[in-house]
Amino acid sequence: MADRIEGVKKLFTSKSARVETNMGDAHYEKLFQSCQARIEELKTQTPRENRLDIDSFLDDQGVNRRDFMKWASAVTGMLMLPSSFTPLVADAALLMNRAPVIWLELSDCAGNTEAILRSDGPKIDEILLDIISLEFNETIMAASGHQAEKQLEDAIHTFKGKYLLFVEGAIPMGLDGQYGTIGAHAETFYDHLMRISKDAAAVVAVGSCATFGGVPAASPNPTQAVGVMDVLKGKPLINIPACPANPANMVGVIIHYILTGQVPELDSLLRPKFAFGYRIHDNCERRAHFDAGEFVEEWGDHGAKHNHCLYKVGCKGPMTFNNCSIIRYNEGVNWPIGVGRGCIGCSEPDFWDKYAHERPISSVNIKAPTGGVEKTVDEFGLGLLTAASIGIGIHAVASVIAGKTENKEY
Ligand code: SF4
Ligand code: SF4
Repeated sequence: MADRIEGVKKLFTSKSARVETNMGDAHYEKLFQSCQARIEELKTQTPRENRLDIDSFLDDQGVNRRDFMKWASAVTGMLMLPSSFTPLVADAALLMNRAPVIWLELSDCAGNTEAILRSDGPKIDEILLDIISLEFNETIMAASGHQAEKQLEDAIHTFKGKYLLFVEGAIPMGLDGQYGTIGAHAETFYDHLMRISKDAAAVVAVGSCATFGGVPAASPNPTQAVGVMDVLKGKPLINIPACPANPANMVGVIIHYILTGQVPELDSLLRPKFAFGYRIHDNCERRAHFDAGEFVEEWGDHGAKHNHCLYKVGCKGPMTFNNCSIIRYNEGVNWPIGVGRGCIGCSEPDFWDKYAHERPISSVNIKAPTGGVEKTVDEFGLGLLTAASIGIGIHAVASVIAGKTENKEY
């Protein structure tokens, strides 16, 4: 037994491959200077007309300077920058109305737009999302038809080469793209994306559909839906997956862009490492139960009532890279595992087909993952990650510790 406990310890305490947060003083000093210069330059630019003054808007919403700086400090940490960057992050937030955003809606449920719109007692992130220079978002704008089209064309023209293009939704490629068309000329979603991304400074794919195809691409994928990264080449592209994407990560990407003028460090799936550099499982409040081999075996059982680990009822937290276990949803109040529902891996490719079921990914062929489990997606390699290896190793060791002998194959 002692060997097995040691085995588990080794599995979970091997050198963490979380994002390297200390890149050295010289790196941060240089970055600080370039961010400072960029912020000063942005301050000289006039805010977009019709944009609210952020200082007074925050005041109106009852957010005082102290709250705001606390928030800026948390965002600095989230972006994995040293605390000395906090004043710069605060300045970048106050300059959010200098970054024009165009938002496209393709094959999806508009859940990501819904996520940023929820406004019951808004947090600072949400207030800021109200204030960004959102030049076009057909779901929430008042204009429609030709008026809306004109607004889009004007925005592309006015901010040529400067706008961030947020894309929500997959791109249906079947029937020459005819499963999804937009406007009076029935432009396909594919052509629409290609045309509007051409003059964007960078493209941000938001939500699982835009990043990896999501639910529209689930088997049998009748419209042959794909994610933006499958069709868009030669443009800076940032993926913010999840279903929906967390508004905190959207704000984080915009602030990082304002601050540095660059895309953040990305993993091999083009996800910002500050948000997707570690797994749900690494920061889960039920982790101690996992390590102790205490699982929910059936819904409503003793384990469920005592908040035990949800792995055996299908939690895919060990395979899923996302920061929702830290950032949470609904004003940070809770998140799926917190309310007793296992993670379905919504920030991973093909999650609907691979992960969204209430069974663990495990088999009798027990095999520990090579090199431990505390690794980023890049270090695992996608094959290892999406094959059952991680789940098999974890399930096996934990079950043995719990004295479980059954070897069910799902
Ligand atoms: S398997 Fe799921 S519920 Fe269990 S510790 Fe990991 S993330 Fe949390
Ligand atoms: S817990 Fe898992 S399924 Fe739920 S939002 Fe987070 S990554 Fe997505």
